[in-house]
Amino acid sequence: MRSTVHIVGAGLSGMLLAARLRAKQVPLRIYDTRSWLACQTDERTWSFHHSDVPEALSTWLMPLVSHTWPGQAVDLGATKISFREPYYEIHCFDFYQKLSFLEEFFVQGSPEGDHGYLIDARGAELCHRAGAQKFFGQRLRLKHPHGLTVPMLMHIDPRMPTVPGIVMEFAYILPFSSHEALIEITHYAQNAALDLVLLQRRLAMYLALGCYEVDEILGQESGSLPLPLTAWKPSLLPGSIGFGVRGRLFHPTTGYSTPYILRALEPLAEALAKKQSSHACRAVVRQASSGRWFFYFLNRLLFLATRHREADGIFRQFFSRSPVLIARFYAGRLTFKDHISMFVGRPPISIVRALFYGGRFW
Ligand SMILES: Cc1cc2nc3c(=O)[nH]c(=O)nc-3n(C[C@H](O)[C@H](O)[C@H](O)COP(=O)(O)OP(=O)(O)OC[C@H]3O[C@@H](n4cnc5c(N)ncnc54)[C@H](O)[C@@H]3O)c2cc1C
Repeated sequence: MRSTVHIVGAGLSGMLLAARLRAKQVPLRIYDTRSWLACQTDERTWSFHHSDVPEALSTWLMPLVSHTWPGQAVDLGATKISFREPYYEIHCFDFYQKLSFLEEFFVQGSPEGDHGYLIDARGAELCHRAGAQKFFGQRLRLKHPHGLTVPMLMHIDPRMPTVPGIVMEFAYILPFSSHEALIEITHYAQNAALDLVLLQRRLAMYLALGCYEVDEILGQESGSLPLPLTAWKPSLLPGSIGFGVRGRLFHPTTGYSTPYILRALEPLAEALAKKQSSHACRAVVRQASSGRWFFYFLNRLLFLATRHREADGIFRQFFSRSPVLIARFYAGRLTFKDHISMFVGRPPISIVRALFYGGRFW
């Protein structure tokens, strides 16, 4: 049947789209190379900001959220900012449990034969001309209270010794209770290879410097997210509509995809429900992923600024201006004035080098 939607990839974007399509009674199939159980037991935490959630989706999405905080904080050493925008977390296991009604549409494998709509939601692929954001995090029960009440999006501890090849490093902390938190060490590097041993060592060092004593490790997650320096075309299944990271729906500088996926979700579900052409559906996704040239440029600044402290300086200069700017940065919605504000004062590295690096910005 032409109107059946075949979603390849049962990750975050594929599952959210499937749930929206079911709400509209659209016939569908979801395919994944992994089993339903393997998808469910993946160690993954998806977090996002209140401003990432379109008004029209809010009531529908909130029951899928596992944890909510009333605010957020950033600590860049000399610059400490906290602000009151709510922050949300969806825990992988919880997510699949809540969407277990979709299991009957799930097929382990690939679609065969003639398809209706084909959605390619197979997640990230190796991306040339990109740096990477690599991270390793542990969900920990600590012996003493950690003292945080809201997520720490970025903590740069100046006591951490620098490492060659790492452009910038910070900790990311989600406090779940007084003694429980996800503590993640993240760094930017020019190659995508995930050096887990190094990341584990760095996390241990961060925990020791912060005097966090571990009682129990409750879980752990790691990843290497591509951060492109230039616009590129993802490789898609023939005739498909790219969605999620595969549809370029991610923030080029943070690697996070929820703001972009949520922006495209309802317009795409609506277009599919109305049986619009695949071409029109692609345009809907493209619209949600537009306006990213500045982040490619920012990535060039980051990855060409090979000295650790210089890269930190880019964020320190940028974020110290206002909490609203931080929120707009994470949402991928910087204004022209924000772009200009980045170059007020002395930018820490050569803008000219970044501009003439080569490759397209859109
Ligand atoms: C550990 C980790 C934590 C992250 N945390 C956040 C976060 O907090 N907030 C945020 O916004 N972003 C986060 N990201 C980045 C990004 O948002 C997520 O990776 C998100 O899952 C992307 O959604 P997606 O549907 O595009 O891809 P995925 O969720 O990766 O889903 C892709 C799916 O496609 C399947 N697949 C792959 N190849 C095939 C194939 N050939 N046939 C069929 N199926 C296939 C995979 O098995 C997988 O289930 C994180 C990434 C990682 C790795």
